[in-house]
Amino acid sequence: MANKKLVAGNWKMHGLSADLPEIAAIAAAASSYGNVDVALCLPATLIERAVRAVPGFAIGGQDVHSAEKGAHTGCTSAQMLRDAGAALTIVGHSERREAQHESDAEVKAKAEAGLAAGLGVILCIGESLDVRESGRAVEVVDAQLAASLPAETRDNLAVAYEPIWAIGTGKVPSVGDIGEMHAALRERLVAAYGEAGRGVRILYGGSVKASNAAEIFAVPDVDGALVGGASLKAADFLPIVAAA
Ligand code: PGA
Repeated sequence: MANKKLVAGNWKMHGLSADLPEIAAIAAAASSYGNVDVALCLPATLIERAVRAVPGFAIGGQDVHSAEKGAHTGCTSAQMLRDAGAALTIVGHSERREAQHESDAEVKAKAEAGLAAGLGVILCIGESLDVRESGRAVEVVDAQLAASLPAETRDNLAVAYEPIWAIGTGKVPSVGDIGEMHAALRERLVAAYGEAGRGVRILYGGSVKASNAAEIFAVPDVDGALVGGASLKAADFLPIVAAA
């Protein structure tokens, strides 16, 4: 049976109080799509206010530290996100793997911390343009997933395949390439978790928009999307939710 789709917005470093009405508009409309889970991953500063503004709608963070607490200036723990009312978090986004030099081992520890705190976790992986052009994308991303996966799964773990060269560029892989990658990732999840690996949702991310969402969602083993730029406005995001 196909997994219920998840369409999650990644607001990155966007979002002020003035954007709360946009979040409310997205949440209100999303509730009418019962066959798809919808979430918005917001800057940490906005989470608590967003949770109050749209009770019952899934609000998430974009990163967590792997430790529960301690001397980690500027960091946020999974418990803190839960305490603020978050339901989920992204971990291992390529922008953090690159700019903050996060390793697979760190991403794995973050994913485990998120699950242990009761958060849903969207674990991101994806290849650079060099790797894609070298023909080694499946091999490299599969190895990245194997090294980043939490030791045990929970039903609120999702994986997001995001080719780095597709993020914010308007470029997307062919549906054939997306299908090949998602099939390999599914095999990896089943190897890691047995039958439970079939229930881990595999999202596609990278320049998803209203005009390409339907064909991407039709690819086998695409269980939803992680959407950056097109998640900031209800008018751009809701057609993607509708396509799911
Ligand atoms: P994009 O970003 O949709 O703007 O390409 C996706 C992401 O980075 O999660």
